[in-house]
Amino acid sequence: GGGNRMQIFSDDMRVKVRERIAAESRLREALSGDLTESLPVWFQPIVSAATGLVVGAEALVRMRTPQGDILGPGHFIPAAEETGLIVPLGEHVLRRAVIRLLEWSDHLEYVSVNVSPRQLAEPDFVPTLANLLAAHPSLDPSRLVVEITETALLGSSVDVRERLEAIKNLGVRIALDDFGTGYSSLTWLQSVPADVVKLDRSFVAGLSADPRKASIIQAVLWLARSLNMSVVAEGVEDPADWHALRELDCPSCQGYLFGKPLPPAEFAATLQPQPEP
Ligand code: C2E
Ligand code: CA
Ligand code: CA
Repeated sequence: GGGNRMQIFSDDMRVKVRERIAAESRLREALSGDLTESLPVWFQPIVSAATGLVVGAEALVRMRTPQGDILGPGHFIPAAEETGLIVPLGEHVLRRAVIRLLEWSDHLEYVSVNVSPRQLAEPDFVPTLANLLAAHPSLDPSRLVVEITETALLGSSVDVRERLEAIKNLGVRIALDDFGTGYSSLTWLQSVPADVVKLDRSFVAGLSADPRKASIIQAVLWLARSLNMSVVAEGVEDPADWHALRELDCPSCQGYLFGKPLPPAEFAATLQPQPEP
């Protein structure tokens, strides 16, 4: 900028900053209204690989704009994490998940909820979860699964392991999300008291045509079994991949082949097919 000053803001960065500010104000607005309207929580089925029948569901948040458009989490979760707004947002998602678990108790075993590193680091996370469970004494806490990613372990000042133990002590189960995509998956497996491994879709998609992928999955399945953990293969789109997973005795699958994320009413309709006219 002249003298010894330097221009460090490119137009590109300006656009990014503007987008981030817009995302934050959209998020604040969404959180100030009726959350079930502005931040609907959708559900995607998780099926038994052997039977294809629904055993659980993953809760996936969306944003409905004032114009009525539906935005995926990529449009607002990063801003939510940076601003800390992920805390009230995450609590909302947990509440919706619990409500649906009770509603669908005859139709599915569990609902899993994504919990971001920022949420997990919050001192109030475990007490909030405990209060939520206490408010619904008829709910078996093991029907709730908390999904965490490897980044939760990194660069966190809190003792994540201790926090996860506290979650487990409530009876809630823990799943390692996007397993295999980080840099320390074995450390992760060794140090975290998890119940479920969610095998990332990069290992799953195309597995039937790729013997190396099949070998990796087979090894993870073996490892998980010997550690007493269950496995969900994510991103199953191709029937041939499903068949390969079944051959390998993978316990469960999730992916567009079995169903996309749907609003609760539409998801429930897939659980209770309308009788034939
Ligand atoms: P994720 O936890 O890995 O969730 C799975 C994502 O994969 C979902 O995207 C889902 O729609 C998509 N997916 C499922 N099956 C298939 C498939 O067969 N093929 C392909 N190509 N994709 C599939 P979505 O809903 O856009 O969510 C993206 C990410 O946003 C999630 O990734 C999760 O990290 C985050 N997220 C979603 N809801 C929440 C939330 O309530 N809290 C937090 N902290 N993060 C959330
Ligand atoms: Ca997830
Ligand atoms: Ca995942």
